[in-house]
Amino acid sequence: MCKLNYVDLHVHTTASDGTLTPSEVICLAQKTGLAAIAITDHDTVSGIEEALIAGKKLGVEIVPGIELSVAYEKEMHILGYYIDYKNLFLQNKIKELEQFRLQRNPLIIKKLNLLGLKVELEEVKEIVSGNIIGRPHIAQIMLKKGYVNTINDAFAKYLAEGKPAYVAKRRISVQEAIAVIHSAGGCAVLAHPKYLGLSKEKLDVLLDELLSYGLDGMEVYYGSHSLNEQICYKELAIKKGLIITGGSDFHGASKPKIKLGQGINKSRFSFDLLDSLKKFCN
Ligand code: AMP
Ligand code: ZN
Ligand code: FE
Ligand code: FE
Repeated sequence: MCKLNYVDLHVHTTASDGTLTPSEVICLAQKTGLAAIAITDHDTVSGIEEALIAGKKLGVEIVPGIELSVAYEKEMHILGYYIDYKNLFLQNKIKELEQFRLQRNPLIIKKLNLLGLKVELEEVKEIVSGNIIGRPHIAQIMLKKGYVNTINDAFAKYLAEGKPAYVAKRRISVQEAIAVIHSAGGCAVLAHPKYLGLSKEKLDVLLDELLSYGLDGMEVYYGSHSLNEQICYKELAIKKGLIITGGSDFHGASKPKIKLGQGINKSRFSFDLLDSLKKFCN
């Protein structure tokens, strides 16, 4: 049998705000010809067990992962790879993050109600199968009820930072995120550096700070990174001795432009990325 050469190291499922279950995602990965995928749901590991079972059945290698939202001036995400998802310290931290969300969602709903949009938390809960309820789920209900024309609209008009129904999420610090990933035996990778909106010089300085907290890698290959940005991030990663990862940030129907296993211009993520990650983490 010929070796499958491609992977996707950044994938969401219904355990957070993706629209495919872990089994469905893995079935799609198999059909797409991917040798391996990392399950990296937001602030939860509840999809990993199902993913491992489905992966074994369908012959797709699964990397147990997570994507943590951390406190920084802008939204910053840290990916954790090869984590022991049963680790108690990690599980406790995840419970804390769930509590943050439980407090935040009713506040978003209240703001929407005050703006005249009749959205209730109960109807949002009905469409969520995992433990994580976030703005994309609220946006789905707003769309269903005809208050907005697209999910993007829901963010642009109401839910995004600076918009009238925005409520900041309490986040853990970046030091804490890296430490919790390490204590669960994983390695910590800065996700989609583009979203930080920094110049190369400023990112260089930030990486030094993150390295001092133990950062292990950076997501160089990513759907929204242009070819030039990828070159810039690769240069920085090599300079800093960071491992290089790549993934699509697949979410299913809620982000329909993102295809599983694909980066910019339909590029794919090489198996070599997984090989180096594995060598580094294990
Ligand atoms: P939350 O965790 O509740 O703060 O929501 C964060 C999620 O919302 C992440 O998956 C983001 O990718 C997603 N998100 C942010 N902006 C948009 C947008 N304009 N359209 C769709 N999803 C978005
Ligand atoms: Zn998401
Ligand atoms: Fe992210
Ligand atoms: Fe993501």
